[in-house]
Amino acid sequence: MQIVLATNNAHKLTEVRAILAGCGLEVASPADLGLELDVEEVGVTFRENALLKAMACHRGTGLAALGDDSGLVVEALAGRPGVLSARYAGRHGDDAANTARVLAELAALPGVSRAAAFVCSLAWVDADGGAHFFEGRVEGEIASAGAGSGGFGYDPVFFLPQHRCTMAELPFDQKNTLSHRRRALDAFVSWWQARGAGHAH
Ligand code: IMP
Repeated sequence: MQIVLATNNAHKLTEVRAILAGCGLEVASPADLGLELDVEEVGVTFRENALLKAMACHRGTGLAALGDDSGLVVEALAGRPGVLSARYAGRHGDDAANTARVLAELAALPGVSRAAAFVCSLAWVDADGGAHFFEGRVEGEIASAGAGSGGFGYDPVFFLPQHRCTMAELPFDQKNTLSHRRRALDAFVSWWQARGAGHAH
């Protein structure tokens, strides 16, 4: 069954395709289907923005759509960057500047907890427009400096204490066994299989 993943982020697309391989879902991007995805992320929660993106793709293609809205939540920054993760330093998708801003803000608060989490909210919109939501979360800490070249976004500064390395230092396949996106997709796949895979409604 073909579905559309409501993202312009090539990294997310690659991760989702790898995680969903073998599930019976063929994941197309908006671009694959000739659709320009230009959604203003005006929601104040990950879930609202995931739904906005999934709905736009569903309406534009008629297919079932999966929206991913995700980001970094830092305890000492009152949950920021949160839904602003992709544009925290001003320019959408400027990973280096976004990461530098988080590090600078934490450096200005010496002694505070560096606890953080990656959160992934998925919105599934059926071919008939019904919506379902799934969430995944992974806990970690913000490192004092970046390390590693894998992944994307804040991965170089997201330290995983159990693994003693950052998310960006994990091999691609290992990130995909433990990430917030993997956990949200596991919840989605369990639900999708339980209701009868391939049943689009
Ligand atoms: P979105 O495309 O609006 O959902 O923004 C997602 C942003 O959150 C990305 O641009 C990254 O900055 C951050 N983010 C989401 N998932 C990850 C991840 O797996 N690793 C690192 N950063 C991520």
